[in-house]
Amino acid sequence: MTRLEQLAQPQTIAPGEEEPSPILIAGPCSAETEAQVLETARQLSASGISYFRAGIWKPRTSPDSFEGVGEKGLPWLQQVKTQFGLNIAIEVANARHVEKALAHGVDLLWIGARTSVNPFTVQEIADALKGVPVPVMVKNPINPDLKLWKGALERILRADVQSVAACHRGFDVYGKSLYRNAPLWEIPIDLKRAFPELPIVCDPSHIGGRRDLIEDISRKALNLGYEGLMIETHPDPDNAWSDSAQQLVPSELLAMLNRLKFRKHQLDDKALLAKTGFLRDEIDDLDGRIQELIAQRMDLAREIGDLKRANNVAFYQHNRWNEIIERVKENSDRLHLNEEFMLKLFSLIHLESIDIQGE
Ligand code: PEP
Ligand code: MN
Repeated sequence: MTRLEQLAQPQTIAPGEEEPSPILIAGPCSAETEAQVLETARQLSASGISYFRAGIWKPRTSPDSFEGVGEKGLPWLQQVKTQFGLNIAIEVANARHVEKALAHGVDLLWIGARTSVNPFTVQEIADALKGVPVPVMVKNPINPDLKLWKGALERILRADVQSVAACHRGFDVYGKSLYRNAPLWEIPIDLKRAFPELPIVCDPSHIGGRRDLIEDISRKALNLGYEGLMIETHPDPDNAWSDSAQQLVPSELLAMLNRLKFRKHQLDDKALLAKTGFLRDEIDDLDGRIQELIAQRMDLAREIGDLKRANNVAFYQHNRWNEIIERVKENSDRLHLNEEFMLKLFSLIHLESIDIQGE
């Protein structure tokens, strides 16, 4: 068993408890003023959140953006603890930040996306964290690189910190997209396959970049069995000094949390297990048939490929692909299937057929 597996705490659910208790982290993107920090904490104080977050040192893309209030914000967070009894969480990006955070009683530290890309910095932080009794969360690196994320987690785990979690904040992809940072859900799913006990917290604010996307992204994360959410929350988001488009006011956050359903990891009811087992058998059978049909389709494509080769015509035929697209759309409509998903699937099948023809 790896260190990561040993250290990560599985989510435990008390018998009879309907919903597991998730890790909920909320608070402003940045600590701006003492009054703003305390007002946000006051509004969140009865919400049952696990940690109050606020960025003290802000890694910003442009040097013209607000780069955080720095050390002078740490006593404001200490007041959040004493006045409202909330645990506090901040981002650390070097050894000095770790030292300052620990000296001010910070309860959870996280390594940001711009830091987890750099093994030198992650190692420096890991060395500063040696044996420290606070949990540490490692955000995914900005670029979609699972190995880099795993490497950063392993460096922190080897430092023997109290517990470690991953935080999924989406990935930078070049070009226009609905999201500020594309979720690429397959990457955290692969991380979970590699480290089944590692808790994963979703950061829908940084994935969406827009407050109207936060709820859907959170729901998706919970449906996938994530252990927690970190959501930027500000009493006056439109006038926030950083990330103003992706913060919720505390009352919106609470309303949203009430609408969301936190899910258990495992089916623990015997009858339910038997029923899902039966349905899964049927699904396995259908999956086998889908693969057999794909094999038949590839055989036909091979035959057509031989004819194309004999007549020296290109394997890709634009008109044919257009015909397939139209048929897939009609069938999706008739069968009530998601058209976008079906087109993606058939685009892959079609490309593979052409590769096979060209072999
Ligand atoms: C943040 O949480 O405020 C932050 C800077 O996030 P990220 O490192 O994901 O960009
Ligand atoms: Mn932010």
